Order: sequence, then structure tokens, then C-alpha cells
Amino acid sequence: RLATAIRDLTKEYVLKSETVRALRGVSFDVPEGDFVAIMGPSGSGKSTLLNLLGCLDKPTTGSLLLGTDDIASMSDDELADIRCQRIGFVFQSYNLIQQLSVVENIQVPLYYQGKLGSDERERAVKLAERVGLGDRLDHRPSQLSGGQQQRVAIARSLVNDPFFVLADEATGNLDSVTTEEILTIFDELNEEGRTIIMVTHEDDVAERAKRIIRLKDGMLHLDEVVSEERRSE
Ligand code: ADP
Ligand code: ADP
Repeated sequence: RLATAIRDLTKEYVLKSETVRALRGVSFDVPEGDFVAIMGPSGSGKSTLLNLLGCLDKPTTGSLLLGTDDIASMSDDELADIRCQRIGFVFQSYNLIQQLSVVENIQVPLYYQGKLGSDERERAVKLAERVGLGDRLDHRPSQLSGGQQQRVAIARSLVNDPFFVLADEATGNLDSVTTEEILTIFDELNEEGRTIIMVTHEDDVAERAKRIIRLKDGMLHLDEVVSEERRSE
């Protein structure tokens, strides 16, 4: 099965005097269980592609399937529902709520759906344990290191059983030791069958994925498999 199928995707931004063609016909599939790094120079269309994958915006033409649904034909309300219910986001700046505990932060995507029961808390506790924070359940973000905060964000991204986890420069604020910890968690989650799509500027981060997609001038420039040797270097 496919986590997403992208066909001839284009996105144009219309400014006052000109049209910017941010994506000019991009096609690729992401099978369930894949681990993809998206790279490319500034202005190549990474943020635009990420916004479309995250259902934050709609394509100008082309299709982007999530399951059997094409986001191009969805209403803004339907996009918002999919975004809350079936996409996991991990950001460079963690985006945790400071007043909430670790477990409560992990449950945030469920609050939006009015799911507040003890089953949901139990699921959040399990995910906290999964990312190694079983002894920090009631801590606030300010009591955690950057790497621990990012682990909370990863647990939060999984709480809705997403089509894929979208990570945007998720290790961009972390030192190399903590970056390694986070990449190890992504690796383990991927081994468990989770689909991960991450945008990064860093070659050594990208080479931890199974596959690197490079954009250039709004087009797919390279789509390469990362060999096992390169991944484990
Ligand atoms: P990065 O290269 O770090 O991914 P960018 O600087 O390209 O980020 O873009 C940052 C944000 O600004 C993105 O959300 C993008 O959509 C928006 N953006 C980029 N270029 C323009 C522009 N010319 N006009 C308006 N918004 C833009
Ligand atoms: P990247 O993330 O690789 O830096 P972006 O997707 O941010 O690339 O940008 C691709 C192109 O689209 C750039 O020329 C950028 O200036 C333009 N762009 C991005 N977002 C907007 C926007 N909201 N309005 C106008 N132009 C934009």
C-alpha cells in the first residue's frame, strides 16, 4: 500500500506582477514503511511540497493521494480534518505547549477531536514510554532538554496513527549527540513500520533515511536509494 501518491503536482503563487512556479510537475510514490529525506537548495520547493503533504495548502494542478482521497478535491474543512487526524508533524522548534505536561502535550491532537478519555491517556503514556520518557510523564517542557522535548513532539506526532510523520528540520536545533538520538528513534519507528518523510539541509542526516529525493527549481532532480552501508556509516 501507498502512504501517498503524488502525480504531476504543480503549485503556483500569484503575486502582484508575476507568477512564481514553486512546483513544476512533481511525481513520486511513498510506500507505507518508507523513510524519505527531502533535500534541495533554498527556493527549490521543499516548503511548498511539505505544505501540500501536510494538507496546509492545495495544489494548483495535479494530485496528491492520501489513502484513496485526493487532497486537490477536498474542501478546506476536510483538509483541516485530515491534517488533525492523519498527519503527524515534527518541527524544528518542537511547538510544545508550555503549560501542559508531557502526557498532556502528547494528547493535544486528540483534544481537537474531543477525545479525552482514559484510553487516550493510556495511549499517550505508552507513546511517552516508547520514546524513553516514561519517567517524565508529568514534567513540563521547560524541565526537559531539547532532545527530550523533540521526543515529546515525536510521540505527539504518532498519537493519531498518521499516514506518515512529516519532520521539518527536526534536528536543526540539536547538537550532534542529540541529533543521533532522534535519528535512532526515527529509525526504530521506521523498523516498526511507520512511514517517515523528513526535510533536511544536512547530508549526514539525510543519509540516515532509506531514500533521498532532491528537488531543484521546483522539479524532482534525483530520487536515490541510500545503501545499507551508507546508512550505517
Ligand atoms: P526554507 O528555505 O528555510 O524552507 P523559505 O525562506 O523558502 O524557507 O520560506 C519560508 C516561508 O516563507 C515559507 O513558508 C514560504 O512558503 C514562505 N515564502 C517563501 N518565499 C516567499 C515569497 N516570495 N513570498 C511569500 N512567502 C514566501
Ligand atoms: P524551499 O523550501 O526549498 O526554500 P519554497 O517552497 O519555500 O522552497 O519556495 C519555492 C519558490 O516559491 C521560491 O521561489 C519562493 O520564493 C516561492 N514561494 C514560496 N512560498 C511562497 C508564497 N507563499 N508566496 C509567493 N511565493 C512563494
